[in-house]
Parts: sequence; structure tokens; C-alpha cells
Amino acid sequence: MDILGIDLGGSRVKLGIVDAGRVKELKVFPISHGLPMGAVLDAIEAQAKGMAGIDRCKGVGFAYPGIVDMQNQRVLCINDKYTDAAETDFSRWAKKRFGLELLMINDAAAALCGEMTYGAGRGFDSGALLMVGTGVGTAAWSQGRLLTGKHGAMGIMGGHIAIAHEQPRKCTCGNVGCLEAYAGTWALQGLSREHPGFEQSVLRGAERIDYRALAAGCDAGDAVCKDVFDGVCRALCTGAANLVHAYDPQVLVFSGGASRINGLRTAIQAHLDRYCWTTWGHVRVAAAENPEASVALGLSSLFEMR
Ligand SMILES: [Zn+2]
Repeated sequence: MDILGIDLGGSRVKLGIVDAGRVKELKVFPISHGLPMGAVLDAIEAQAKGMAGIDRCKGVGFAYPGIVDMQNQRVLCINDKYTDAAETDFSRWAKKRFGLELLMINDAAAALCGEMTYGAGRGFDSGALLMVGTGVGTAAWSQGRLLTGKHGAMGIMGGHIAIAHEQPRKCTCGNVGCLEAYAGTWALQGLSREHPGFEQSVLRGAERIDYRALAAGCDAGDAVCKDVFDGVCRALCTGAANLVHAYDPQVLVFSGGASRINGLRTAIQAHLDRYCWTTWGHVRVAAAENPEASVALGLSSLFEMR
């Protein structure tokens, strides 16, 4: 069954036409920060209607970067992104503009569904996701099902589990000491600028301080990049161990832009092997198989499961 999968990120939208684990078309386009939800939906509709297979689609899957009440198909909570999303009736929009039924879910949760069904988590009963992009997204899977909890928030708050309590850094969520405040791409700029050697670092002239810039600086022998990268790596290791202790996964799927940086996945694997209380065996840290399409694949799997 072909579905249209919509993966709404902070700066770009990915559209996929997917059928039971097979991506038939994938389209990515940028989205301006601060647009109202109505304008975002108009842009999505225009782009989707230009896709060759749109007329064959039997449903619309929508992955949203916030807390989603899956039962009522509504956005419950947003964090600095698309602030009018909670008042938007997405089901009505899908019906009116495409004549199709909508299924809505958090983006990290959708990515984990995709990886557990068709990707790195295939063959495992339980898993967790650590997805590092602008923020840090997580999700958890147990006995062949996505964990959702009462409000759709179970498993997805791992980026906001605190990893520091002494002089903790402020997070965008209102809490302090969150994993995301130490390892989300948005935090790298502040972490770098606070380093006493910043003025002498290659990062000072960088257009954008992200994981790629940090990794390039490390390769060039820049001391500030190495210090910041070490700190980020320790934060991700601590966060990954917290996920393992919280959800008892067999596999931890590592995804997002940062997962492509050499050495991070192996550092997390070594940390879990050494420090996690998993006497029954090691948790496998696996790179996402389809980082570009796992959300669309997950949306497809949700329709298949219904
Ligand atoms: Zn937070």
C-alpha cells in the first residue's frame, strides 16, 4: 500500500512515497524558520502534488518533531518549532487536500519504527533510538511494539534526561543539564565559544559550528575541536547508557547527522560494554541503515500494522 510519508524537520521537509518498506520516491526541500503551520502545510501540499506516485497513495503519514497524541492525531507540545501546531487540525488538512486518512507520530518514534521493521533493528524484539540532529531525539520499542505511554511521550524524552547537575547548561525545554544541551547540534556553538582557546581555533572563522566542522577541526589537529568533541562524545555515551538502563533494548540504533562521524558509534559501543548493567549480554549499537528514509519507512510500517 503506497503512502505519502512527511518528515517535518526544523529546517527541511522530506517527502517519501513508500510501499511496505520500499521507498519509491523521495523529495527533500528547505523550509524557512518561523513560518506558521498553515504556510508549511501549503508548501508540503504543493511539493507532494508534484510527485509522480501521489495519486496512488492510500494514506498520509506525518512525523512531527514534538509530542504527538497518536490517539487523537494532535500535536500536544512543541518546543520552539511551529508554535501554532497544537491548534492545527492535521487530519482535516489531509482529508481536505488529499482526500486521505492521516496517521501522525513523533519523528524519532517513526524513525525507530522504520529501523526496527526494515532496517538496523530487524530481527530484534526490543530496541531504542538515539538520533542526533539539531536536537537529540530518542524512542523505545519493546516486544515488537513502539512504546507510547499515556500521552505519546514515553521513550521520546531521552534528549531531555539530565546528564549533569553541577553548573548544568540551560536547555531549550526549560530544564537544565539535558543531554541535548551537551550534544544537540544547536549546543555546539555555545560549547565552542565558551572554550578558553576559541579565539585561536579554526572554529572562530567557521560559517557554522556543527558536527562536520568539529570533525574536520579534529582531523586538522585543532585542540579546541578535540576538547569540544570529547565532551560531546562523553555526553552521548552517558545518554546512551541512560537509554539502555531505562528501556532494556537489545539494539541501540544510532542515527542522525552525527552518526556519520567516525568513531562516535564505536565510542558509544565501548562505553555501554564497559559501564552498562547488562549482565545478560551486550547491547549492540548499530548505525541506522536508512537515515534519510527511516522516518518514511516507519510511517509505512504503521499503516501496514493497522
Ligand atoms: Zn531539555
